Amino acid sequence: MLRLAADLHIHTVLSPCASRAMTPAAIVREAAARGVEVIAVCDHNTAGNVTAVAAAAARMDRGPFVIAGIEITTSEEVHVLGYFPSAESAVEAGRAVTERLPLWRPLTSRTASVSRGPREPDQQIVDAEGNVTGIEERMLAAASPYSLSETVDLIHSCGGLAIAAHMDRRSFSVPGQLGFLPPDVPFDGLEISAAGVSRGCEREFACHGITLISSSDSHFPTEIGTGITALDVESMSFDELALALRGSCGRGCAIA
Ligand SMILES: [Zn+2]
Ligand SMILES: [Zn+2]
Repeated sequence: MLRLAADLHIHTVLSPCASRAMTPAAIVREAAARGVEVIAVCDHNTAGNVTAVAAAAARMDRGPFVIAGIEITTSEEVHVLGYFPSAESAVEAGRAVTERLPLWRPLTSRTASVSRGPREPDQQIVDAEGNVTGIEERMLAAASPYSLSETVDLIHSCGGLAIAAHMDRRSFSVPGQLGFLPPDVPFDGLEISAAGVSRGCEREFACHGITLISSSDSHFPTEIGTGITALDVESMSFDELALALRGSCGRGCAIA
């Protein structure tokens, strides 16, 4: 059995709140430099840069294993992480969310010319080298129309695993937005932020009987690896991650 260091919540330049420095090459380089062996790319409401990060990792000598992910904002403004068996399934889930978001800016010629201006656009879809190949026109920071339970169902219907993000935070978390953890929503894991782990918050959430993980929720390269989950797996694959989250067949995971 291997024990791998995983940081399963990393944003790229596609997230409107992330640094422009979060290019595929920078993410995989920082992860490798910090001893992070598994990463999950989780942009807000889209999986548009997952393939580029995976390609950047594949070009590296001993690059991190990349899990295709997303961070969906539900209609209650709860953040839910999805991890998927392939980039295609992540993109499928992302497309279902993105197409129901409002447009980021009105597509009239007047506002388009004003807003584009000399500044580089946000919400960049990039290739493995960081070249901008497109701009996401939907407002990725907006809440989707999917409720919490519909979001978890959407992730599961695309073959994914659903994790309630940063449970210890007051905003955009299940407890922060709803005041409780609905017992009928089948989460595959609960994420505690790195700051929450440093305050011992994971003890508060152990009573739910759902696997706990911790990740960095990186928006800047220097944050990568500041929250780590140790995965005990036979090798690294999505199926092994699923077993580790379930604690099945000798696999497991623990907040490191
Ligand atoms: Zn979040
Ligand atoms: Zn996030």
